[in-house]
Amino acid sequence: MIIILKKGCSEADAQPILERIESLGLKPLYLPGDEKIVLGAIGDERILAQARLESLPVVERIVPILKPHRLSNLEFQPERSRIQVGEVVFGGEEIPVIAGPCAVESERQIVETAQAVRAAGARLLRAGAYKPRTSPYAFQGLEEEGLRLLAIARDASGLPIVTEVISEHDVEKVGAVADMFQIGARNMQNFRLLKAVGGTKTPVLLKRGPAASMGELLLAAEYILAEGNPNVVLCERGIKSFFADTRNTFDLSVIPLLKQETHLPVIADPSHGTGVRSIIPAMSLAAIACGADGLLIEVHPSPQEALSDGFQQLTPEQFQDLMIRSRSVARAVGRTISEV
Ligand code: PEP
Ligand code: MN
Repeated sequence: MIIILKKGCSEADAQPILERIESLGLKPLYLPGDEKIVLGAIGDERILAQARLESLPVVERIVPILKPHRLSNLEFQPERSRIQVGEVVFGGEEIPVIAGPCAVESERQIVETAQAVRAAGARLLRAGAYKPRTSPYAFQGLEEEGLRLLAIARDASGLPIVTEVISEHDVEKVGAVADMFQIGARNMQNFRLLKAVGGTKTPVLLKRGPAASMGELLLAAEYILAEGNPNVVLCERGIKSFFADTRNTFDLSVIPLLKQETHLPVIADPSHGTGVRSIIPAMSLAAIACGADGLLIEVHPSPQEALSDGFQQLTPEQFQDLMIRSRSVARAVGRTISEV
């Protein structure tokens, strides 16, 4: 159940209601928005119905929850969420671009990439220190050393860091460096991990599982939101299909579809979505045109030497060209992409 407070209400107005929800044995949630405060009560809704909260003067309305995805539902929070990472905002007019190599490989590689993507207009640096690989024999990431190098790259470039956390046991360690956690496609339904990042306030980039429906992605987001972390950004990164012409089938249609269902920002990852370097620019433009709130693009100073995903990483020059072309499409749909 969602309890929407009247405009102008403060945290002090919300407090007695949150205490009442808790005393009924339900889990209270405090979700302040730009305009209004929204409260949630998780648990058996019949109990709350008896509490008659709608008669309180600070309550505007109570919305019973009928759809499986609740806290992420656009019906219950008609204001679109703006998720802030450092000074960057997802879900506003700007379309932030996240860029960087698939994995951190060396100090030189990550610092060089950070500076190059920043100069081209990227707003966040992304690279994996922990890599969930299909094969146990493939490069698994530099792990703690990778985190250390990411912190150096942030200092050198000023870009906030997005990096993957693959286990609930690593949340604290990765969270000490990450400005935004990535939950990778393979872990979209690792419910313990979702709950663990939900217990922090660090923004989470949640990637769609390779075989997950839109509803399953939204319910995965719900695990994070229900733990009290409202800072979730969804990411389409391609799904399995019948054909092997591309690495995955980049499902552009899910972007506007998700935006009809949820107030959470939705970004696109055409790098993993297609796995074909030559079509990443075209699919980036298409994603912007259909409403993506951000892009995730893999960039490596020398992709032919990359330890993972070399075939799909753009060179810094190709990335710069993509950024230039992206800006005019963003303008055409009333959005902006940072110049630098
Ligand atoms: C990645 O972002 O490098 C990655 C492994 O992505 P995904 O989880 O989408 O496969
Ligand atoms: Mn990758």
